[in-house]
Amino acid sequence: MSRFEQITDLEKRYLLQTYNRYPVALEKGKGVFVFDFEGNRYLDFVSGIGVNALGHAHPRIVKAIRDQAAKVIHLSNLYYNEYQGQLAERLCQLSGLDRAFFQNSGTEAIEGSIKLARLAGHRAGGDAKCRLVALEGSYHGRTFGALSLTGQEKHRKGFEPLLGDVTFVPQNDIAALRAAINGNTCAIVLEPIFGEGGILECSEEFLRECRALAAQHQAALIFDEIQCGLGRTGTMFAFQTFGVVPDILAIAKPIAAGLPLGAFLAREQFATAISPGQHGTTFGGGPLACRVGLEYLAIVEEEKLLENVARVGAYLTQQLQMLVDKYAATQGVRGRGFIQGLVLDIPARPLVEQGLTEGVLFNATQDTVLRFLPPFLLQEKHVDKGIRVLKKLLGKKRKKQQNVESAA
Ligand code: PMP
Repeated sequence: MSRFEQITDLEKRYLLQTYNRYPVALEKGKGVFVFDFEGNRYLDFVSGIGVNALGHAHPRIVKAIRDQAAKVIHLSNLYYNEYQGQLAERLCQLSGLDRAFFQNSGTEAIEGSIKLARLAGHRAGGDAKCRLVALEGSYHGRTFGALSLTGQEKHRKGFEPLLGDVTFVPQNDIAALRAAINGNTCAIVLEPIFGEGGILECSEEFLRECRALAAQHQAALIFDEIQCGLGRTGTMFAFQTFGVVPDILAIAKPIAAGLPLGAFLAREQFATAISPGQHGTTFGGGPLACRVGLEYLAIVEEEKLLENVARVGAYLTQQLQMLVDKYAATQGVRGRGFIQGLVLDIPARPLVEQGLTEGVLFNATQDTVLRFLPPFLLQEKHVDKGIRVLKKLLGKKRKKQQNVESAA
């Protein structure tokens, strides 16, 4: 039995069968590459769904983990640790928000965010001020609160009843947004760029309207930047790209370079709605994860990775657009920086599987979108390799007279 068969056999017998994994078992990584157990190398355009922004085995991250693990990994929130306040300070400086709470995942960051918004809502308008507005097609996580905000039937089905106080509006539909919000709204929750939903951007106009309506109704504007934040758009936070500042910001994925850490940040006006004992976590904000979080932010700054995301991201857009111009199975390019999607009119998964045999990790979402969430270290030559492979896999060229713009 091969190592791959041993691994997959055990999983088939002992794991809940929830994942439809790609047929590869990975052993290790270095920079923008990962390696399977046979030593085959893959160029990584996925970074563990947007987590490994610093690639794999970054020497400074390895050193910080080694050093801190030998001192102390976990203490609980019964005691102070050296790094939680420091990381909160840095995130507040970078975002302009006032306070942070640390969780263990993106989903938990969403849960914390809506709990805080509920408290602030009740404080401002009594029990009735509890309603949430979210977007159709969104994704916020799998727990009951986060799932209740997730506007995709395929994730919700079978788990009802969920929170009943959520109104969904189509992304970028200002009239529907206005109709959905009233004095009983405590929060508007949205991803500035849908990740799982297929790399779809909110318009600046829509975001500005959300901002104005939230202020008008004393509701919290919550941005879920779990996938699009912390550098992926070429600014530290996606809201800085769009120029609209939220009241509460949920982040996770790359913050601790692969260790589980999520957080929500809040403006003081909302942060003061919570009192001791109303929220908490055993693991969240531990010294190891927070120290690595500080190291992550320092590396992004010192290695000028945001500049790299902006430059190589623009190159990726240009190269993907070139594919759209040439290949019949492509429809358009969406997103920016290192959160982009190539929209196909064929299923994306077979392409991802063929990519494996060509030594490249791609990812598919919403059936027909090839999603790119590469490490921030990715260079133009890596884009070229990905594009070469896609050219091979995309098959038929477009006929000259076909109108590409109308297909996008
Ligand atoms: N929100 C968004 C926008 C996400 O992309 C994700 C994860 N893909 C989540 C929430 C949930 O995060 P986690 O899986 O870390 O709980």
